[in-house]
Amino acid sequence: MNNISTDILKAKALLENDNLVAIPTETVYGLAGNAFSETAIRKIFETKNRPFFNPLIVHIHSKELLNEITDNLPQKAYQLADAFWPGSLTLVVKKKDNIPSLVTAGKDTVAVRVPNHPLTLSLLRLLDFPLVAPSANPFGSISPTAAEHVARYFNDSLSLILDGGHCESGIESTIIGFEEDEAVIYRLGAISIEDIEAVIGKVSIKNSKESAPEAPGMLLKHYAPNTKTIMVDDIEQYIQESDSKKIGTLTFYKKTVSHKVLHQEVLSEQKNYKEAAANLYQAMHRLDNMGLDIIVTERFPEENLGKSINDRLNRATK
Ligand code: AMP
Ligand code: MG
Repeated sequence: MNNISTDILKAKALLENDNLVAIPTETVYGLAGNAFSETAIRKIFETKNRPFFNPLIVHIHSKELLNEITDNLPQKAYQLADAFWPGSLTLVVKKKDNIPSLVTAGKDTVAVRVPNHPLTLSLLRLLDFPLVAPSANPFGSISPTAAEHVARYFNDSLSLILDGGHCESGIESTIIGFEEDEAVIYRLGAISIEDIEAVIGKVSIKNSKESAPEAPGMLLKHYAPNTKTIMVDDIEQYIQESDSKKIGTLTFYKKTVSHKVLHQEVLSEQKNYKEAAANLYQAMHRLDNMGLDIIVTERFPEENLGKSINDRLNRATK
């Protein structure tokens, strides 16, 4: 596919003309546009078919640029930026007037992070504006963790997909906001709560639409394959009792023993959460492209990134 390349000068020219470019990050691929251009921002929502109530994350290349976006940072935000940037942590902070309200869905806060991918950091350094970049998939479907995934979704509508290989963390960033200067997790993600608490102490979690109107994008159904997908506690028992002919499974570290299973995805034979998270969406993309009747996933242990993986699987199976 000739629109996949590493040509950041071409990316720069496209972005400066209000066009969109798919960019690699360590979490998932993003559909990027100039954060200060209403034309570009509208194109993002239209291309993804994303509702306007779902705000976008602003990507900058260094924490020194935070003062162009916000002028009122809680102490804990500095500590988190120091500890995790560049990296998979998004901070929700008071926005300055220069951030278009289309970016923030009309809110007076803005989400921002420094992504940890060399190609995208080089691109951001070439630009004199930040990028807004939601995941490069149609609204509600599985996030892309490779350039080919983006091409499958948007080959006809995108003139450039920057190829940065497979995404290292493989699930979306952890999102943290501040309520009366206390940190609140709005979305579980690639950085575990345990790692965050090691830096700033106890944090609370509000990661559903009901409990966190603050994070308007946290919809119950999201990240979903086209194939029917369910999550069960006892995968072997479910398969034994199932009438489905073409079953695919997604498990943490153990293979399923049943001969009835047509395709298996084991996310980390070493039982390593980081590896499992990095493999999650790739496995879901593969399973979804096999013409299966059903995808059966197991529930992960509720610790470390197992919590973030369960969050995604819960939304994928709604
Ligand atoms: P995505 O870019 O698809 O990973 O989604 C970004 C998510 O960030 C949204 O769905 C919101 O849940 C969250 N978000 C973005 N901006 C804000 C904000 N100003 N306040 C709270 N949550 C936000
Ligand atoms: Mg998304």
